[in-house]
Amino acid sequence: MSKWNKELDDAVAALRPEMIAALQRLIRKPSVEASPLPGKPFGADVDACFTEALTLCHELGFETTDLDRYIGWCEIGSGDEMVAVLGHLDVVPEGEGWHHPPYGAEIVGSKLFGRGAIDDKGPVVASLFALKAIRDLGIPLDRRVRLLFGLNEETNDRDVFYYREHGGELPVLGFTPDGEYPLINGEKGILNEWYGISLRQDGKLQIKSVRGGVAGNVVPAHAEAELTGPACISLPEAEGITVTRTEDGWKVEAEGISAHGSHPEQGKNAIGLLMLYLNRLPLTGSTRRVVSFLAEKFGLDPYGARLLGKRLEDDLSGPMSCNLGLIEGDSGSIRVKLNYRYPVTKTVEDCQPAVKAAFENAGWKLEQSVHKEKLYYPETAPLVKALLETYRTATADHAPPKCIGGGTYAKVLPNTVAFGPLFEGDPVTEHQPDEFIDLDRLVQNAQIIAQAMVKLANLPLE
Ligand SMILES: [Zn+2]
Repeated sequence: MSKWNKELDDAVAALRPEMIAALQRLIRKPSVEASPLPGKPFGADVDACFTEALTLCHELGFETTDLDRYIGWCEIGSGDEMVAVLGHLDVVPEGEGWHHPPYGAEIVGSKLFGRGAIDDKGPVVASLFALKAIRDLGIPLDRRVRLLFGLNEETNDRDVFYYREHGGELPVLGFTPDGEYPLINGEKGILNEWYGISLRQDGKLQIKSVRGGVAGNVVPAHAEAELTGPACISLPEAEGITVTRTEDGWKVEAEGISAHGSHPEQGKNAIGLLMLYLNRLPLTGSTRRVVSFLAEKFGLDPYGARLLGKRLEDDLSGPMSCNLGLIEGDSGSIRVKLNYRYPVTKTVEDCQPAVKAAFENAGWKLEQSVHKEKLYYPETAPLVKALLETYRTATADHAPPKCIGGGTYAKVLPNTVAFGPLFEGDPVTEHQPDEFIDLDRLVQNAQIIAQAMVKLANLPLE
């Protein structure tokens, strides 16, 4: 076991002013993905921030590699094997509600505000200065350490896909400082699927249009349907449902509670609520079958248990979650988008065929299916053990590693887990207005990352 390197800690701490200045430079380059331009696959703004990062590297005396402007890296050490630290420079749009200029990199007290401060420019800068401290101290490394500057994490991961498709070297060990501490050793597998069905309506009461939701991975807060039918039919009242008369029928609106799609149990699905209500109405034929299917197989169930005929779960990551995120349709057809996430010790075969069969048995067709494989490294895996040990030595916090329902950047590279930058209890400001990084946390992250880099670079593997 390698010992804690106090000298490395001190060297990193001494870089604090340089680190802050570097982070300010990166935050001042807004880097939201935009339309591609020749030689700038993610648009001009992302590319300008990438250039700034490469310039920073050169000023610190690092050589860099730029893979066709899709991704870049700088690296220290020598040897056949490589340890990857994967960060990203792209950010989500600033949105509304800021009290500080979103690209001003303002410092107030111990906080540095700006889009990307914690996600993920702060951790990228921390990693860069960790590399510098290791190099300047001449710490021996058995493996190379490569800091990758991802540029497309917030949207489609096309940066790392390009890297892999173009022969980019894969790490034997790696981490991405784009999650939380102690570390995330399990991430549920994620399926996003569209199903569609035609309607042949001949009853008195018919669906004219239906829509609800904003995205597959968000629990819909609102859903509505327009119905046509004779005025003699009376529609019942129900909680969470508003019915208004229209020229040729009714508008039925359902109000639910939004939540992230990885935790549908924290919300209330407005599409499910709407279907439960419509299921009480005198619908007939294929309209009845479609509505009954969605009401009975989904309703307000966040676990997809009725769809599968059982609850799929494990002790590490809990039950499969299932979110009916979107519905759209008119009098002739209906489509729904489903986002479901299976436990880390299960496989896609444990759920997807059954979900598909349930839909197909009810006459629906699978239109699109996108699968993100689950990630799981047991606590006994050398990577997990080494990173946990680093974190525990740094903080004396012995919390266990986490399994989550969301997907992190770690999924795109083999032998990689999410490690930092958020500590237990830290406010979560990523993707929010007034995103910030605490400057002490910035330095602490750089210290932990530096120790982790050395540890992984010298970790014996069978
Ligand atoms: Zn991120």
